Amino acid sequence: MQQPRFPMSPSFVGTIVSLTMAMAAPAARAREPAPSPTSDILPPTMPWQGASERLIAAAGDPWITPAEAAGFRTTPRYAEVRSWLERLAATSPLVTVQGFGRTTEGRELIYVRASKGGRNKPVVLVQGGIHAGEIDGKDAGLMLLRDIAMRGRDSLLDTVDLVFVPIYNIDGHEQSSPYNYPHIRGPAEKGRDGNARGIDLNRDYAKLDAPESRAMVGLIRSLDPILYIDCHVSEGFDMQYDITFTYAGWGRYARHRATAGWLENRFGPAVSQALTAAGHVPTLYPSPIDSRQPDKGIRYSPEGSRYSTGYGDFIGMPTVLVENHMLKPYRRRVLGTYVLLEAALKIAATDAARIAAAKAKDRASRPTELLTRWKPAPIPIGWIEQFKGVAFDTYPSPASGRMEQRWLARPITFRMPIIGQEPVETVRLPAAWWVPPAQTEVIERLRLHGIAFETVATARTLRVDQVRLVDPKMTQPKEGRYPVTARFVHGQSEQLMPAGSVRVPADQPLGLLAASLLEPESQDSFLAWGFFPEMLAPAPDTDAFVLAALGEHVLATQPGVKAAFDARLHDDPAFAADPDARLAWLYAQAGPGHPHVLRYPIAREVD
Ligand SMILES: [Zn+2]
Repeated sequence: MQQPRFPMSPSFVGTIVSLTMAMAAPAARAREPAPSPTSDILPPTMPWQGASERLIAAAGDPWITPAEAAGFRTTPRYAEVRSWLERLAATSPLVTVQGFGRTTEGRELIYVRASKGGRNKPVVLVQGGIHAGEIDGKDAGLMLLRDIAMRGRDSLLDTVDLVFVPIYNIDGHEQSSPYNYPHIRGPAEKGRDGNARGIDLNRDYAKLDAPESRAMVGLIRSLDPILYIDCHVSEGFDMQYDITFTYAGWGRYARHRATAGWLENRFGPAVSQALTAAGHVPTLYPSPIDSRQPDKGIRYSPEGSRYSTGYGDFIGMPTVLVENHMLKPYRRRVLGTYVLLEAALKIAATDAARIAAAKAKDRASRPTELLTRWKPAPIPIGWIEQFKGVAFDTYPSPASGRMEQRWLARPITFRMPIIGQEPVETVRLPAAWWVPPAQTEVIERLRLHGIAFETVATARTLRVDQVRLVDPKMTQPKEGRYPVTARFVHGQSEQLMPAGSVRVPADQPLGLLAASLLEPESQDSFLAWGFFPEMLAPAPDTDAFVLAALGEHVLATQPGVKAAFDARLHDDPAFAADPDARLAWLYAQAGPGHPHVLRYPIAREVD
């Protein structure tokens, strides 16, 4: 899933299990193999069959995958996946298995390269299990690799290479439990979403805290794929669709238009057609405004660089988020993923030159602005006339004490509004950003991203825009960090940039990514993620008689500061009654050169 989920503890899940067991089973439930001890809590399914079922290997086939052999009730662990792939690589000259880094707990990250050889062929990069319980991509990829390597589907590799990461979040994958992802219908046990430190790798593409993220961005940089596919499973509400997928901003709100256009106009139709022909029911991923009332609409909005799709958009790399529908049985979801991946390889091969041109166009573009805030538009920007939903009613739940949804496995259609966004805040990019040499964490990450910068050998004085924080707040810890929110005041001044300072020009292919990391207003900036906690510390103590004299001097000589001070005394009685707060506030206003005034350390070079 992409949107944040509500927390669900194992004890809460246990409550649902015992409650459901005490209730009468719904009548006429289409029986699928029960994949998990928690599967009985899920709504009934509707029967399904499709041509993609013919992809499943027969029992006794020496190349049957572990999931097929288990009737899709279970999914193999890392060691089993790895040994299966190494056996395939030992048999087929088309397949190699390689390491590309280590997880937080030290497991080796692996990818499979399926290739017919030939230098510099374009690459399609596919990953499974960034959220390790959403593992459909892994088992589909194993089946597809088997069919490419051993069963005559090698023509898929005539003009492109497939690079497949079977399990991205391996540490989370190995923390397997029937109580992880209880909303997903199989396999029986699933991994968890965060890595070993609870960091969600699909929130880490910008800040690069996890070793897994660093390895993945390194792999992306070395391959520069023409297509990047990130396999997930949805949450939210029941519907008839089984395989859904989307792109940053649904194309409409993409930051880079040429690659977004290819996804919308070429990838989407090709993949939808293949899925439909194989018996699946695809659509663009419908992100609900309110899953309790699906007809309130689905959301189109821009994306941040923290996400795989957002990151792809910021760097001009066509990136697809696959969101299989959680309530469809695992077998059906894996088969649909196979069909999607095969169709993706075909359209990427057909369009390789077209994609390369789109990437080049996006990377040659030089956006001058970054949209940083937006809000839902009051009027829908469009409608899906015949959305394929599922009926539900509500019942009083003794567990929650309120009315809860009960999905009825009965197809309905309704008119679905599409809720778009309108811009709230846009920032204009500077000529460059200046990072002080002390900010080693930031400089290291710029390097990992491949953002071009220059380290200046001699000190330089220049006019810059410097940002001050007003009312900064550390918010709820998230993703291993203490995010910061604030209002920002910009002001220009002459500043000395010491030797060793890093100048990051906006005029570069990754200029927009640099902006998303370095512009203070950006929701994925290092500042927003809480990289500069030292800035929030109070100014060092000084004797009150000195501060009082300094404050009196400021009030006597700076009418603007005096007016602001008087207003605050009037508006904020707690402040007025706090002598130390008054002195600290006046000290912070004392003028340029003051090192302790909530000054964002990265300066913006103005034209
Ligand atoms: Zn997910």
